[in-house]
Order: sequence, then structure tokens, then C-alpha cells
Amino acid sequence: MKFNEFNFNETLLEGLDAMGYEKATPIQEQAIPAILANKDLIACAQTGTGKTAAYLLPILHKIAEQQSSHIDTLIIAPTRELAIQIDQQVEAFAYFTNTSSIAVYGGGDGMAWEQQKKAITKGVDIIIATPGRLISMLGSNTADLSKLKHLVLDEADRMLDMGFSDDILRIISYLPKNRQTVLFSATMPPKIRMLANKILVNPEQINIAISKPAEGILQQAYVVYDNQKLPLLKQILKQGDYKSVIIFASTKESAKKLEIDLRQAGVQIKSFHSDLEQNVREEIMRQFKNRQLQVLIGTDILSRGIDVDGISLVINYDTPNDPEDYIHRVGRTARAESTGTAITFINEKDQKKFFDIESLIGNEIPKLTLPEALGTSPAYEPERKRNTFDKPKGKKPFHKAKRPNNA
Ligand code: AMP
Repeated sequence: MKFNEFNFNETLLEGLDAMGYEKATPIQEQAIPAILANKDLIACAQTGTGKTAAYLLPILHKIAEQQSSHIDTLIIAPTRELAIQIDQQVEAFAYFTNTSSIAVYGGGDGMAWEQQKKAITKGVDIIIATPGRLISMLGSNTADLSKLKHLVLDEADRMLDMGFSDDILRIISYLPKNRQTVLFSATMPPKIRMLANKILVNPEQINIAISKPAEGILQQAYVVYDNQKLPLLKQILKQGDYKSVIIFASTKESAKKLEIDLRQAGVQIKSFHSDLEQNVREEIMRQFKNRQLQVLIGTDILSRGIDVDGISLVINYDTPNDPEDYIHRVGRTARAESTGTAITFINEKDQKKFFDIESLIGNEIPKLTLPEALGTSPAYEPERKRNTFDKPKGKKPFHKAKRPNNA
């Protein structure tokens, strides 16, 4: 379906044209008419499907058609990176319209906070905010949301995983009841359904995400002993002609250490994690987007929402803890119908986790043979490992490992 079939406002179509958007993606085809019809919506879609434009375009159309002097739309997102990125998309789509927006997030300096407050007091159509900062803003009466028409929760599952459930409900208590609410989530666990039941009214439901990585991604894996990981990584980076590479480590400590090891091996690399100041994170991301920096290493903080085109290789130096994280990580490559490669290193301990990932995506991922100089791989026996690792140890009750909270 072409965008001009949606009867969008001319100025919005101009913006789409300038960005080279022609055909709507499946999530856009389904979500745009529902949002234009003012229905509440619950949509299951991952990043990479075009979900951001799926909610932004109909809202921008409505704002362009009916300018008002009040804050029209609130978009809540889990991380500042995602908030900034959504704001950039608003700016691009709304380039020829009169719509204004601001991203509101913590972690910046006092000046950024003052600027955000000033912009909101002056009047803005769309606020894109992380929950914590928005609560402070509402507490200080900076933003008047009483005339709000649209509320969007983006990556709602991630927000609940990060413990923002109460914050979201508190924010909603400041909003008018008579509003349109749209909830996007990459997964639909029961807690999302419960949240949706609380805050949506007769929602339409769209299910695009089948929890499968995009088809353009060549997925591969190496079964390794821990001491084979670093030499293998060096070899892959040395041999491959990859323009833009993201390496995922499971903790920021491991990311920092790898940065040092790879620098010593002559790789031009930077690490991206939550210990860095906001301006440093932005600068690293800018360099990576501009291709001044070829290799970026980070934790799962990089796996959601970061929108950089043309990433040719994703390496999971550590197997992700969670199958959904795997999908988000490998989804950094092969964005919007391009192609890319995703390679996962599986040590002995992580074989069960990788098996879960393969089960979720319904495919066995090919295991490559290690380069000869690195020796032989351990056997891949996830079923045996599964039995070993799933059993309670000693007398302690067994608890499923929690997602590490140090990304
Ligand atoms: P998202 O799922 O919102 O993170 O979008 C993934 C990428 O696809 C972003 O780079 C978008 O700019 C791009 N994109 C989204 N919709 C379209 C479309 N209809 N045509 C071309 N590119 C798109």
C-alpha cells in the first residue's frame, strides 16, 4: 500500500517523499487506519518493522489538520536513546508541517533540563519522554497535559521489565480520560495484557511480531570454550570486510574489557554503556552513525530501538540471556529489508540459553567450524546441559536467573 492512499495531509506527504518512504510496511498498513479512526490500539511489533512511523504518521496527520495550542501527544519510551530517536523521526516527518516536539529525558545536565522545561512552557505539540523524567516534570507542574489527545507507550514490555509499571500508571493519572491510547510492545506477556486492560478502551489488536528475526539476516553461531572467544572475535574482525559492526557483551564490565583488548589488537572501537555521560553516549552514537567509528561494543542497552542503517555485522560475544534480547540484538542488522550477518558465540554454560533461542525462532542456527588455529569446539549438547542446569542445586530452591540489571 502506498502512503498517498492514506489521504495524509499534503505537508506530511512531502516529508515522507523527502525521506524516500513509498510503501507502508505491514504494521503501518494495519495501525495507521486504526489510529486515524481514533481507536485505542494494542500492537505487537518489534523494532525494524517500521513501528515508529506506524504511530507517528497518523498522529502527525491529525495534528497537521487540527492545530491547537495545547500539548497534543505524549509518547513514553523506555530509554533516552529511543526517546531521542523518536524525536528525530518526528522532526523528519514533520519537516514541512508546523508541528513541534521535544524529547524529555534524564541524564543530561541542568541546562538540558531547563531547555526542556522552557520548550514545554512555550508550547509544544508532542512530548517524547522517559518515565522518570516525566514524573519529575509533572510533579513540578511544568507540563499541562489536561488537553492531551494521544498517549503512546512504545516498547511497553521493555518499560515493564525496567520496573516502570507504577510510574506509567502515575503518569496516566495526570491525563484526561477522554484520550486515544496506543500501546506498542515487542512481546505480549500477561503483564502487558494486564496493563492494556487497565489503560485501553476496546482496543483494536494487531499482531505483527512473530518473534522472528528479519529474513535478510544470515544467522550463524560458533560453539566455543571461553578462552577461544577473544581470538575468534579478532579473527572475524580481521578477515571480514564489514563496514559497521556491533558487538554485544553481557555486562558493561565485559564490554569495557573487550574494548581494551580489541584496541590493543588495533581495532578502532568504542564501548557504549550506562556508565557514560549522556553527551559522551550521544557523541559515540553520532560517530558510529557517520561511519567515523566502525566497531561499537555495548550491552543490551544498544539492542533496543537504536536505529542505525547499514550495520553489516552483529556479534553476540556473549549469548543473550533471553530469546527476545537475541531478536532485538540481531535486529540491529538487516534493517528495513537490507541484509546482514549475526554471529553468536556459545560457550558451554550458554548452550541451554541458545537452545531456547532456537526454539523461540523455530529454526536451528548453523554452527560454524572454528578456524583450525583455535582448536576444536566443545560438543553442542544443549539437551544434556538443559538437564544439568535446570535442576535445583543443593537444598536451595531453584529460581530462574533474573535478567542482569547492569546493562
Ligand atoms: P522502526 O521499526 O520504527 O525502528 O523502523 C525501522 C527502520 O525502517 C527505520 O530506519 C525507519 O526509518 C525505516 N522505515 C520505517 N518505515 C518505512 C517505510 N515505510 N519505508 C522505508 N523505510 C521505513
